[in-house]
Amino acid sequence: MICHRQFSPEYYRKSLVILETSLDQLHAYRSWRAFDPGSEHPVDRRYAAMPALTKSDIREHFPQGFLPEGYDVEHGLNSGEIHLVKTSGSSDIRVTNIWNQEWWDASERASWKLNSHAARVATGNHPEAILANPRNVGFISDSVDLPFEKRRLSRFLYLNEKTDPTTWTPGLMDRMIKELDIYKPAVLEANPSLLARLSRYAADADKKVYQPGLIVFTYEYPSRLHYRQIGRVFTAPAASSYGTTEAGYVFMQCEAGKFHQNSEFCRVDLQPLKPEHGGPRLCRMLVTTFNNPWYYMVRFDVGDLVRLDEEGRCPCGRHSGFIVSGIEGRFTNATLAGDGRLVTLRRLDDAVSDLEGIEQYRLEQPAAGEYVLHLASRRKDKKALSSEATEVLCKLYGQKSGISIAYEEDLAPEESGKYVLAKTLFPLDIAEYLDTACLSR
Ligand SMILES: [Zn+2]
Repeated sequence: MICHRQFSPEYYRKSLVILETSLDQLHAYRSWRAFDPGSEHPVDRRYAAMPALTKSDIREHFPQGFLPEGYDVEHGLNSGEIHLVKTSGSSDIRVTNIWNQEWWDASERASWKLNSHAARVATGNHPEAILANPRNVGFISDSVDLPFEKRRLSRFLYLNEKTDPTTWTPGLMDRMIKELDIYKPAVLEANPSLLARLSRYAADADKKVYQPGLIVFTYEYPSRLHYRQIGRVFTAPAASSYGTTEAGYVFMQCEAGKFHQNSEFCRVDLQPLKPEHGGPRLCRMLVTTFNNPWYYMVRFDVGDLVRLDEEGRCPCGRHSGFIVSGIEGRFTNATLAGDGRLVTLRRLDDAVSDLEGIEQYRLEQPAAGEYVLHLASRRKDKKALSSEATEVLCKLYGQKSGISIAYEEDLAPEESGKYVLAKTLFPLDIAEYLDTACLSR
């Protein structure tokens, strides 16, 4: 097999209970029974035979189809055990999900064990500052600035209330810097593009920033460009946490830089892409949630690609669950080279982030072989920058690529509140890229 992953007997026990409960009791999975090879087969084999759960499936069977016998949505809502939340996906279908705060918090706590800085500073009642788009979390107020007290919620401080970060004024960013200093968060949870924006300002204005115990990146793909800009002012350790509203905390980056599966709270099934597209190490991930009696997600397609770690082990010594060397970005943020091969966001980002003097970028692919790279840069020699960028993209996509470079003052996030670093302007179907020979094994 291609990695040295280990799973506990408890992991297999939970996998089996979730699968059998779902097939036996849940309306959403009733049609999946036809795929089950039977209880005499190993649980991994039974999972592998099942389809993937999509957002359309969630919409079709929501909410009662995802609850086992004895659990009633109305009852849960009335008792306050659950809430309903809408996701704000841009390229995705918007769905409503069942939100179980107690489970979410427990899933997060389990993920902290996977990073020694988090394990040290995150106690569960530690002060935490959040720099996110309020469309995703926090309080929206675009016209009026909200005072400190109006952006507090239990142990959290929301540093930003504006939906469009291109409207941030120096005054607003000074306020964020000052509040970090006053609040002294143990953890700063940040949308990487927003923390990069604040860091660019702090570096330019020569402002000192408070160093939290740990910076946790979430909500977006953290670009190497973001890391570099943030590293100019923040010296605190940083880790990327990967999760979704539906699946909770799925992977956490450890202090050695690799990602470990939060295997107490989820099962992960990996489906390799075809070799020409990066398989077998590059995989689509399907997540099954554990321990949440209010919402059974089985083989939910979270929409992201991961790269299995080549060594399958990590210097940190953690070995429970899958170890991946990187989250490669969403499938919807992949692009295509001239020969039709898939280029993940991570590959693009590694190449483009090396360009000197760029602050932000977004790559759009309107058609096969055509690419538009939007750049925000203060470099004066735009001609030289354009030819450097063209060279980088030709290397990645092919020498015959049609490339244009468009300069922008600033780049705004999508309507979802998240920045998109790359996308095709035509649909891609993941089924064409998966290694079906591998799937049926
Ligand atoms: Zn590790």
